[in-house]
Amino acid sequence: MYEDKTLKCKECGAEFVFTAGEQEFYAEKGFVNEPQRCKACRDARKNASRGEREWFEATCDECGGIAKVPFKPREDRPVYCSECFAKKQAAAAADTVADAVEEVAEAAEEAAE
Ligand SMILES: [Zn+2]
Ligand SMILES: [Zn+2]
Repeated sequence: MYEDKTLKCKECGAEFVFTAGEQEFYAEKGFVNEPQRCKACRDARKNASRGEREWFEATCDECGGIAKVPFKPREDRPVYCSECFAKKQAAAAADTVADAVEEVAEAAEEAAE
């Protein structure tokens, strides 16, 4: 049977536990190498490669500036830079508030009649 093993991360030098369960999982998958890095370093590497992969540059529909988006921009959908996106969100929020105020005012008018 497997026993927890303490390994040393080759990235940051921290000791981490290669648990019995993980060893079993590795054996099941046919992995012959023990993990080289602690979980924190593995996650960091994963996030780093993911970050590089998923950012796309497009032209902002509003100001013509560079918009960086975490998805592949589609031709038929406008893309906004973070500044314009924030402005649009603020505008949308203001619209929602205005609509709500109007509705309340209308209701009050109706009730007064
Ligand atoms: Zn590490
Ligand atoms: Zn913009």
